[in-house]
Amino acid sequence: MIWPGLSYDVREVLTANLFKDALHKRMLEFKSSLVTNFDYSQKAVDDFNEWIRAEIPRYGGYAAVSAISDLPVTDKSQIRRNPKQFTARTAESQPLYLKQTTGSTGPPQQFSYSAFFHHETVLLSIPKIACRLGLRPLDSAQVYSLTIRDKPTERPIIRFDSTGAGGTGIRVGVDTASPQSVRDVIALAAEARPFCISSGPTVLAAIAESVPSDLAAKVGASLIVSGGSHLADEIRLRIASLFKAKVVSAYGLSEFGVVASECNRGKLHFNTCDCHVEVTPPAVEASSLNPMEGELIITSTKNRVMPFIRYRTGDIGSVAYERCDCGEPSPVLRLSAGRTLPVFRLPSGVVFSPTQFSDTFAKFPWIGEFQVIQTERDKLEVLVETKPEEDVDPERKLNLRRHFAGRLEPGVNVEITPHRFLFDAKFQRYKSLLN
Ligand SMILES: [Zn+2]
Repeated sequence: MIWPGLSYDVREVLTANLFKDALHKRMLEFKSSLVTNFDYSQKAVDDFNEWIRAEIPRYGGYAAVSAISDLPVTDKSQIRRNPKQFTARTAESQPLYLKQTTGSTGPPQQFSYSAFFHHETVLLSIPKIACRLGLRPLDSAQVYSLTIRDKPTERPIIRFDSTGAGGTGIRVGVDTASPQSVRDVIALAAEARPFCISSGPTVLAAIAESVPSDLAAKVGASLIVSGGSHLADEIRLRIASLFKAKVVSAYGLSEFGVVASECNRGKLHFNTCDCHVEVTPPAVEASSLNPMEGELIITSTKNRVMPFIRYRTGDIGSVAYERCDCGEPSPVLRLSAGRTLPVFRLPSGVVFSPTQFSDTFAKFPWIGEFQVIQTERDKLEVLVETKPEEDVDPERKLNLRRHFAGRLEPGVNVEITPHRFLFDAKFQRYKSLLN
């Protein structure tokens, strides 16, 4: 099977090989953390005292600490204002991998990964999820994982596993607004026969809509992983019956990679060897929260270029510490609806993923923030806040309307309205007022 246009990155292949022993060790640590709870807060304290306060400018001048709670909470705006403060002094002298947030809850932000951390997230994320479930590839699987992203222009790449934990991975982009593009990817998947398909709810929704069951059955995947935002129950059920595979959710952020995934009892467990989690009241009082819920604050020092200590994620949820029926001692996360990424159903019935608007900041540098709300089946309202000193003049308004309307189908009305946002932990860039 040859995927059209498939290529690989030579630098990636070579550096992955350098880390194979260390990555293998990381996988063993993960396995043992499934039976013995790992105290990541102690590891973070040790890392802080050992290298973070020397390496990361933000903590320059800090004395050694004895508990994570001795350190301040960090929020996204601090990093956006001054990313260098949170980046290791040695960053310039080592190979870095740059990641961009999806920008579904705030303006897109770039993060630097160390080479080791990059390979850990690329090569071990799925093996960890499969390991928690006790799943291994069948002999009929030709590749280990197929990652399908909601990015129409992304070129397919292949990754070779050097750790022995996973296997060959292929990553492709798909145009979720085109049912044919979705069917084409699944037809190729039927030839590649991946053990696991990893994707997001918008792509899975598009697959559920447009892929016939005889085609899905040919893929032969054992595991479907959904990450990025909440997976609606009806899509989960439809995907499970289409592929006759186990469907699980994973929770991750661009800042940390995957930090939690579901067990066989359907509970979302934190990877205690990857992060420490706390829950605090959200930055802005949200009266709809129940008393157990709060904003998730995550600490992970695995990325030695940008370690994050007590980082406000903006995600709302609760964490349970009682032992789960599956036997795993790690805490269980219950995410609240705040992270649901909606899809827009257009008048023709096509399901449109608003993540297709994520290039808006790059195309219109004068925009500070925007929000897209589907108010009617054929109507989108776009609220726009400019950067300071900028203005929405008629020409900008026209170009912006063309940008949004051009991605939609004819007949959908786009209205641009200047706006000033009041940010809180529940800000969502894309909203639909329809069911
Ligand atoms: Zn469990």
